[in-house]
Amino acid sequence: TEETLVLVKPDGVARGLTGVILARIEAKGYALVDIRLVEPDRETLAQHYAEHEGKPFYEPLLEFMLSGPSVAIRLAGNRVIEGFRSLAGTTDPTTAAPGTIRGDFGRDWGLKVQQNLVHGSDSVESAERELAIWFA
Ligand code: ATP
Repeated sequence: TEETLVLVKPDGVARGLTGVILARIEAKGYALVDIRLVEPDRETLAQHYAEHEGKPFYEPLLEFMLSGPSVAIRLAGNRVIEGFRSLAGTTDPTTAAPGTIRGDFGRDWGLKVQQNLVHGSDSVESAERELAIWFA
């Protein structure tokens, strides 16, 4: 069975949405293998977001991710990588479909970075790489 890394980002934790996000994940039938509250340093985030280095939203993204604790989840299930991204919805919370986490709860704050509540690995390779970073 497949595994993925899910993060409830600082906006999700600060807004008290960790519970409803976990409820959707559990209702879908995915298994929580490990879960922890994390306060990553800059180096950890630079590793996690290495592919975005140099993009206009990179610095605001790191600042946002440093702004408060996140919840890191090791999640398991059949096709869980694709399945969680489907639960999360697309990156932009304004246009994310209703019924998704970002579509139902995500807000556009007019900032340089999308504060879109969650992260989910986008491939088997990313999941392995990211799980090693967050669950070292
Ligand atoms: P995930 O966040 O689950 O990896 P994603 O495909 O929605 O998936 P990425 O493209 O990996 O996001 O970008 C990482 C994060 O950077 C986004 O979740 C969002 O917070 C922010 N981001 C990405 N693209 C933009 C953008 N064009 N403008 C502002 N913020 C962005």
